[in-house]
Amino acid sequence: MPRQIAAPRGTHDLLPEDARSWERLEGLARDLANRYAFERIDTPIFERVELFARGLGEATDAVEKEMFRVSGPAASDEQAAEWALRPEPTAGIVRAYVEHGMHVQPGPLRLWMLGPMFRYDRPQAGRYRQFTQWDVEVLGDPGPMVDAELIELAHRFYAEAGVQNVVAHLNSIGDATCRPGYRQALVDYFSANEVRLTDDSRRRLATNPMRVLDDRLLDPDLAAGAPRALDHLCDACRAHFAAVRGLLDALGLRYELDHRLVRGLDYYTRTTVEFFVAGREGQQQALGGGGRYDGLAELLGGRPTPGIGFGIGIDRTALAAREQGVADPEPTPLVVVVSADPDAFEPRLRVAGSLREAGLRVRVDGSSRKLGKQLESAAKVGARWAVIVGEELERGMVVLRDLTAGEQRALPLDEVAAAID
Ligand code: AMP
Repeated sequence: MPRQIAAPRGTHDLLPEDARSWERLEGLARDLANRYAFERIDTPIFERVELFARGLGEATDAVEKEMFRVSGPAASDEQAAEWALRPEPTAGIVRAYVEHGMHVQPGPLRLWMLGPMFRYDRPQAGRYRQFTQWDVEVLGDPGPMVDAELIELAHRFYAEAGVQNVVAHLNSIGDATCRPGYRQALVDYFSANEVRLTDDSRRRLATNPMRVLDDRLLDPDLAAGAPRALDHLCDACRAHFAAVRGLLDALGLRYELDHRLVRGLDYYTRTTVEFFVAGREGQQQALGGGGRYDGLAELLGGRPTPGIGFGIGIDRTALAAREQGVADPEPTPLVVVVSADPDAFEPRLRVAGSLREAGLRVRVDGSSRKLGKQLESAAKVGARWAVIVGEELERGMVVLRDLTAGEQRALPLDEVAAAID
């Protein structure tokens, strides 16, 4: 026998038993996008490597270590260097915004996207190489109100998803005016303590010093004593952050200041945010995260455009919902169409068609077994109801059988939908 082929490491199949909870979350994302007046955008799953190198920064894990390269059929090195599967959605969306001249549209633009992202990370529980993100972005709004509005939206998503105890971690990492000073303060501090850094961090110190703070292996005492971005903000950034906090306080939304939250991607400015189930932060399992990126559009060849957005991890939200015992929605009752005549297929299909037209969820038994066997297997696939097709169909009648109660009655076909609760 040929040997079986397993799914690639770090990926997972969405099996039917899990699909209902996913559909609920995806449905909620779509519904909330609509209620908050966002419009859908879809960008390609692969983009030019250059987009991520420029937009995210060369010295980020996503670009440096975790990029899935894509090549054409003649896989020359040159081609493989050209495209990559997207590790995150924002760079592609802002690329589309610039490419299509969307700045001329009446703004601010509110965009959403739902789809798979790819990072060649070390797989573990809740950390996959392909995962799904619901992403919202607002372009052309400098805030601070929209910053709070998006944090409120994320809280509403988790609340309506049934995930309790979600807390936002919040920080501001300044802008082009004050960030250089903060970077320098970090370089000075960590250089003086270089022996206590991991190899990775020692390297980052030269290329992307803020990233030393989100090294998972950073010595906690060293982290606690590190310079804080909030102490280095310029007046404009400080006022912006104070306004965001004021709004969150006024709305009663839960957040904690997190000085280590600098986000791995270079394009962030000012507000950064990540969402955790309170008490689970140690496991580095953020349910979502994002922030402001006022410099990104310009970096990608567009005109200066403030932007803010976040991505919610559907995989991790589904895991958290399951851990917290959130029930999946009940599917609508299943009906199986069976037939007293083992060889009569066409009437079964016709009856099934009209029940489906009435909105019911219907399977048809396609076997030539006796009626009793057909009813048995209907119960086995989880049907509550069987519709038995027999000679009375000539008079527009069928028999509706309640498989749980074991009772049945004849009724007109067009009354079946109403008879099923
Ligand atoms: P990030 O851009 O890394 O903040 O990602 C946004 C959200 O996507 C995270 O908060 C997670 O919920 C989710 N996410 C990121 N990376 C992964 C991964 N490797 N596996 C599963 N979910 C992820």
